[in-house]
Amino acid sequence: MLNLVLFGPPGAGKGTQSDLIVEKYNLIHISTGDLLRAEIKAQTELGTIAAAKIEKGELVSDDIVIGMIKNKLAANLNAKGFIFDGFPRTTAQAEALDVLLKEVNMSVSCMLSLEVETPELLKRLLERGKVSGRADDQDESIIMNRMAAYNSSTLPVKEYYKAQGKQFEIQGVGSIQEIFESICAVVAP
Ligand code: AMP
Repeated sequence: MLNLVLFGPPGAGKGTQSDLIVEKYNLIHISTGDLLRAEIKAQTELGTIAAAKIEKGELVSDDIVIGMIKNKLAANLNAKGFIFDGFPRTTAQAEALDVLLKEVNMSVSCMLSLEVETPELLKRLLERGKVSGRADDQDESIIMNRMAAYNSSTLPVKEYYKAQGKQFEIQGVGSIQEIFESICAVVAP
């Protein structure tokens, strides 16, 4: 069972690399950002609550995202493994993930942290905003809020996995293929 956490700030390339990893290792892709956007599109109650946070570039509450992960795990118990993209984003989420995986005799195999400097992230997000249509990628002040949330709430997650000996830094600048090869070298050396 291979359970990967793909970590990094907004715009680091988590989605792009997830697609390649899923194809190579045959994993179930769980992106909490995608799941939340699906809830918003379906106009669910959860989606309405999430939208209020996402529009401001703030994190959605731990309870909501942990609940979504729990449902996804339960629905895919026969999977070869999972790639968690954009989750966990707080230490509480990381702790909850460990508990949920343990309940089904699984654990996080490793955490891959995509390293990209802030000016490059800003450039990438604004570019992506033009094609994705995502409002939170188009407004510089929302992007800066997302970066602030990353620095204050999400960065500690790195330490959480470092303490478990599971954290690996990946240079997130270069060609998509080069970055992917660095990831593969860690996942299956
Ligand atoms: P993403 O698509 O991963 O960039 O996520 C878009 C937005 O969804 C974020 O800016 C957060 O508001 C929210 N979000 C996604 N994943 C999480 C998470 N694990 N915890 C809290 N909020 C999240």
